[in-house]
Amino acid sequence: MITVFSCSSDDDNNTIIENGTNPSANLKATGSSANDFLSAAKYNSVVIEVLYVTGFRPNAQTLTNLKQFMQNRLNKPGGITITEREITSPGSSPYDINEIAAIETLNRTKYNNANVLAMYMLFVDGKSAQDTDSSFILGTAYRNTSFVMFENSVQNLSNSVGEPNRVDLETTVILHEMCHLLGLVNLGSPMQAEHLDEAHDKHCDNENCLMFWKTENSGVLQMMLGGNVPQLDDDCLADLRVNGGK
Ligand SMILES: [Zn+2]
Ligand SMILES: [Zn+2]
Repeated sequence: MITVFSCSSDDDNNTIIENGTNPSANLKATGSSANDFLSAAKYNSVVIEVLYVTGFRPNAQTLTNLKQFMQNRLNKPGGITITEREITSPGSSPYDINEIAAIETLNRTKYNNANVLAMYMLFVDGKSAQDTDSSFILGTAYRNTSFVMFENSVQNLSNSVGEPNRVDLETTVILHEMCHLLGLVNLGSPMQAEHLDEAHDKHCDNENCLMFWKTENSGVLQMMLGGNVPQLDDDCLADLRVNGGK
């Protein structure tokens, strides 16, 4: 899921002071910092603040997989650092995106600081307000450096008979949301070849690709039958490379 939720206009880009505590540079539209993530031109390292509600901590292997993916795609000679912190339940599931943004405002502590790009992930104890009886949203990228994982839904759909391994499902959804922050598809990293799914904006039309729209909702279970973990296809990889990535 991709929600373009922006509190500040790009017009004040030049006047934002990035001192680690001013949130302004981190309140922009999803995908608008794609080049900042991919290239080392402005930021040579990334710090990721992971917050999780008690009982919904991501698997350590999932975060290792995210870091590995970022090291493979991003030019960050200063490295990628992940911090984790537990928070109490906001208690308002199902969560709409305004509630998710309010939780960020209350709890996020890391913002861009000089040449360090700050990113934020929340693992929440409930479901999306946009879920239906038959479809569950597993993650949503909603700002330039922020996304939420509906970890309760991830847990409900993994580690039982006929379901994917939990680390595999968490990894798939996290990498999908990460790639929205990296500007896929046509969301800040310009398309080098036509591969936009016209019916599901900002997603790839290759049904085996990590950026196919089903990889962030319960439709992903079909894609992962047999233990497959979706990967980026050549079109998505090319877009990242041309926008400053590896
Ligand atoms: Zn998506
Ligand atoms: Zn693709």
